[in-house]
Amino acid sequence: LEAQGIGKYFQVGGGFKPKRLRALNEVSFALGQRQVVALVGESGSGKSTIARLLVRLMEPSTGKILFRGRDILQEEPRQASLDYRAQVQMIFQDPFGSLNPVRTIGEHLERPLLIHGKAKSDAELRDRVNELLETVDLRPAAELAARYPHQLSGGQRQRVAIARALAPGPSVILADEPISMLDVSIRVGVLNLMERLKEERGISYLYITHDIASARYFADRTMVMYAGHIVEGAPSEELMQQPAHPYTQLLLSAVPDPNGSMKNELKAKSGAPKLIDPPPGCPFADRCPSAMAVCRQEMPGTTQLEQNRWVRCHLYGQGATLGTVGTQGQS
Ligand code: SF4
Ligand code: MG
Repeated sequence: LEAQGIGKYFQVGGGFKPKRLRALNEVSFALGQRQVVALVGESGSGKSTIARLLVRLMEPSTGKILFRGRDILQEEPRQASLDYRAQVQMIFQDPFGSLNPVRTIGEHLERPLLIHGKAKSDAELRDRVNELLETVDLRPAAELAARYPHQLSGGQRQRVAIARALAPGPSVILADEPISMLDVSIRVGVLNLMERLKEERGISYLYITHDIASARYFADRTMVMYAGHIVEGAPSEELMQQPAHPYTQLLLSAVPDPNGSMKNELKAKSGAPKLIDPPPGCPFADRCPSAMAVCRQEMPGTTQLEQNRWVRCHLYGQGATLGTVGTQGQS
């Protein structure tokens, strides 16, 4: 699944000069088979917008979405888009809000199975539902299928949401903060389930989180977002060992334990970025300990640091390399 320059703008305010809110500036990246790519950033940085565009809950203002080389936004026939929807599924942060309180767990799973033609009789439908529940370790399946959402724990509900996403047989799951509302003690279990599904079913994930420690645990690659831009992309381990962008350095400095407690959250700071008619230059300039004059004039371009690593920051355009740019506060 590939995003090529996708962006999302909204008109806000009325009159002769409506303003533009840039929820997402043009971003590009690719998600390979059985790959986990994390999108890390604060709320409002554009992470969820990317997922909503990819799953076609919204249409992008710019750019292309390619799936196995097909230009998805050009596809009109309903069947083609049904196929894409089956292949690219989404799970949401809130396992409470995403389930309907008056439907049983079984009914939640029947719907996508029917829509995507995965069963031809009631008996087969029941079997598929039970298989899905067992796949996500909800047992005894027949008993759980008869329950209502309020009779399940938060972790069980998120497993139901994962089972529902699996129903059409996807190859990509966009997971938007899938563990952040769960008790800390059960978060790793849900990530491990997702990992197992990756191995068993060849599923790829776009893993959206504000928790950089969980990205290190789960994702092969991590991309860091700030104010609607992806500012750095690297293999997760390398990014955590040697963050290049000053914002990534700030994010990591907020993580107390290098092995990652999963409960840490970066507080929104004053001087949060402007998304409406933003000033020119780097959106992080107001918070950046290394900001230079050029930072307030020009948006930095992309600098390739190593084969798999890149960053958008003027420090690296000025000849600096990895390791020569200090951690935050030392510039
Ligand atoms: Fe800081 Fe400038 Fe780099 Fe932006 S471009 S992160 S302001 S050094
Ligand atoms: Mg979000």
